[in-house]
Amino acid sequence: MKKQKISIKLDKKIFNLMPEFDNHLLVFHLQDDESKLDSYVAIHRINGSLPSFGATRLLDYSSNEEAIRDALKLSKLMSYKSAMAGLPYGGAKAVIIRPKGDFSREKLLESYARGLNELKGKFITGTDVGLTVSDLVHMKQYTKYLVGYLANPEKATALGISKSLDIALDYVYKDTEYSRHSFSIQGVGKVGFELLKILIDGGARDIYVADIDKKKIKEIVKEYPFIKVVNTNIIHKQEVDVYCPCALSGALNTKTIKELKCKIVVGSANNQLECASSCEDLHKRGIVYCPDYIANSGGLISIINEYRYGKLKNIQLTKNIKNIAIILKKVLLESKKKMVSPFVISESMGLSIIKKNSSK
Ligand code: NAD
Repeated sequence: MKKQKISIKLDKKIFNLMPEFDNHLLVFHLQDDESKLDSYVAIHRINGSLPSFGATRLLDYSSNEEAIRDALKLSKLMSYKSAMAGLPYGGAKAVIIRPKGDFSREKLLESYARGLNELKGKFITGTDVGLTVSDLVHMKQYTKYLVGYLANPEKATALGISKSLDIALDYVYKDTEYSRHSFSIQGVGKVGFELLKILIDGGARDIYVADIDKKKIKEIVKEYPFIKVVNTNIIHKQEVDVYCPCALSGALNTKTIKELKCKIVVGSANNQLECASSCEDLHKRGIVYCPDYIANSGGLISIINEYRYGKLKNIQLTKNIKNIAIILKKVLLESKKKMVSPFVISESMGLSIIKKNSSK
C-alpha cells in the first residue's frame, strides 16, 4: 500500500473564507490513493488533554469543498451538543467522501482507521450516516480510537428524542399521550426506525413516513400496515402535530418552513436548520423547534458512557438521557420568557459553557 498522505496543516487562509470555519482548532485531510480514501477530520474545540468526540459519516459529496463544509458544520454542532449534555469534551466530526466507481469498503475503512492513529487520540469516533457497527468492528483491527460497539447509540438517540418529544408535547398541548397525536418522520434509517418503534409502542398510530430507500419502506409497511407512506418531497407538508426530521441536514429551509403544518419539530438529523435565520422563521410561525443537538444528544451520551466505563452502565445512561428533557424544558421556558426562538437560547447557553470549558 502506498503511504497515506496525511495533511495536518491548517490553512487558515482557505478555511477563513468559509462561514462554517468558526475558528476550528484542527482540520486533518486523510488521503490514500490505493484505497481511494479522501477524508476530513475537523476538530472544533479541545478541552485540555481530553479527546474530542464526533462520529464519522461516509457519503457522496459533489466536491471536496462540500465535504469540508459538512465536517466543519457538524463538528461545531458537536461542541454545542457536548456542552448542552453537560459533557466536558470538545466537538469534532469526520467525513469520508464515498469514492466514485469501484472500491473495496474494507480497504477504504482500513486506511481510514490507520489514518486515525496519526491523530494520536485527539479524536475519537463512531458511526454516523453511511457507517454501521460492523464497519466499526472491522476498523477496530487497525485502531483503538473508536467507540460504539457495546452501546447502541441509535437506540439512545431515539430515546433522547422521545424524552424531548414528551417535553414539547406537554409544552404545546399539555398532553403527552402519543395515541392522541399525529407524527411524520423523514428518514426511517437507524434512528428514524428506532423512534418509529418508540412512537408505536407508546400508542401512536397516526404516523406518516418517507424514505428514499424503498426497500426499507416496504419492510416497515409489512410490519406496521397502518403506517402511511408519502413521497420524500412532501413529508414535511403533512398535517400533523409533530414533524421528525431524521435524514440529513437542512430539512428546515426557507421553502420547507413555509410549508410546514405541524406545531412541533423534533428529530435526530444534525444541522436541521439551513441557516441562522431559519430558527426565527419557525418561531414567527409559532412552531416549537427543539434544537437538534439537544434532542439528539442521546447517542453521544451513550458512547461517552461506553468510553468512560468500558461497559454499559444502563442506570447512568438512563439518568443522563433523562437530563436531555430537563435541559430542553429550561430552554423552552427561557424562550417563552425572552420571546426568542429556543435555538437562540440554546446557542447562547451552549456558547457560554464552551467558553468556560476552553478556558480551564
Ligand atoms: P441512517 O443513514 O441510518 O438513516 C438516514 C435515513 O434517511 C436513511 O434511511 C436514508 O435512506 C434516509 N434519507 C436520506 N435522504 C433522505 C431524504 N431526502 N428523504 C427521506 N429520507 C432520506 O442514519 P442515522 O444514523 O439514522 O442518522 C440519521 C440522522 O441523525 C443523521 O443526520 C445523523 O447525523 C443524525 N444523528 C444520528 C445519531 C445516531 O446515533 N446514529 C445521533 C445523532 C444524530
